[in-house]
Amino acid sequence: MSKGSRSPPFDWEGLLDGLARFYHTGDWRRPYLRDHAEDPFQVLIGTILSQRTRDEATDVASARLFARFPDPVALADAPPKEVLALIRPVGFYRTKTRAIRACARALVEEFGGKVPRSLEELRRLPWVGAKTANCVLVFGFGIPAVPVDTHVHRIANRLGVVSTRTPEETEQRLREVLDPRFWIPLNPLLVQHGQNLCRPRGPKCDICPVRALCATGRALSEGRPPPRADDRPRPRRAARGARREARPGPPRRAARRARRSAGPPRSRTRARPARHRRAGSR
Ligand code: SF4
Repeated sequence: MSKGSRSPPFDWEGLLDGLARFYHTGDWRRPYLRDHAEDPFQVLIGTILSQRTRDEATDVASARLFARFPDPVALADAPPKEVLALIRPVGFYRTKTRAIRACARALVEEFGGKVPRSLEELRRLPWVGAKTANCVLVFGFGIPAVPVDTHVHRIANRLGVVSTRTPEETEQRLREVLDPRFWIPLNPLLVQHGQNLCRPRGPKCDICPVRALCATGRALSEGRPPPRADDRPRPRRAARGARREARPGPPRRAARRARRSAGPPRSRTRARPARHRRAGSR
């Protein structure tokens, strides 16, 4: 087993098998790239389009874009206004229009219109960061790599296999502790888990298929605090209401009513300030 792993070592095989079996059936959300992992160029551009965007919007925009501009040469020469109109469903579509055209031009000018197959070369492309480059390797070429987005970062920390503050640190740590044979299936399974049960707020640990392997799931079921403070169960409305009722003293409205009924009867007309009285008496 790789250096840095705990004793007993984390059961990666059990985790990935458990998630694969669970999401194999049922009407679960599926990660965008899982259904679009064919053409490296489309993976590259689709990943840029998908940033801070719902999968449904990425789907619509990329289908429209690739139907009109299917390769780097076509996109490099595409009129910006036309590209902008095609990708309008995604967030930040103006910035992304500049990004994908610049990326296509760089592919044509520096790489002969082909998407490079190494992390270093991919990172030289404009607007391409670590996550996008790793996605192209995994989904476009089937080359083992560790794409870490917010889902992978969050779930790896909840599982307790890393203790990191940023996706970049998580990628680095996962490369150290995770056997490369698990690199390719890791991202799509954790992203799907993050979109469905292990969501950023209120993970559904009670129905999670890998709860027994998860530090957060085990801690919550044993009544201990989870490793990340953010994952403490949030009070539900009913619980908040119960706490309010348990507060000492009557609720404010009841207290007001009690004061009124105890005091002398109030006049129906309020005493006006002296300034207004003077104005009204003229
Ligand atoms: S047990 Fe909870 S925190 Fe752990 S992976 Fe499952 S849903 Fe996420």
